[in-house]
Amino acid sequence: MMVSKMQLRSVGEMCPGYIQAGSTSWVLAAENIEKDVSCETCIHWEDSRCNIDLFDKVLSSLDQT
Ligand code: SF4
Repeated sequence: MMVSKMQLRSVGEMCPGYIQAGSTSWVLAAENIEKDVSCETCIHWEDSRCNIDLFDKVLSSLDQT
């Protein structure tokens, strides 16, 4: 299955495991630094897959709506 950029964003926004790569609390507090929320900016995204296997779970929960 091809995963679209839109799906990566939707999953990132809904995912309980999302942690932005390179983020620290002071960076998140600053304005205009935050990158787009998406699996692609998450520390768990490796080799085009989620390394804690949350992607499929979150995606299927999105499909139910
Ligand atoms: S890479 Fe995994 S943990 Fe990170 S937002 Fe995507 S599904 Fe969630």
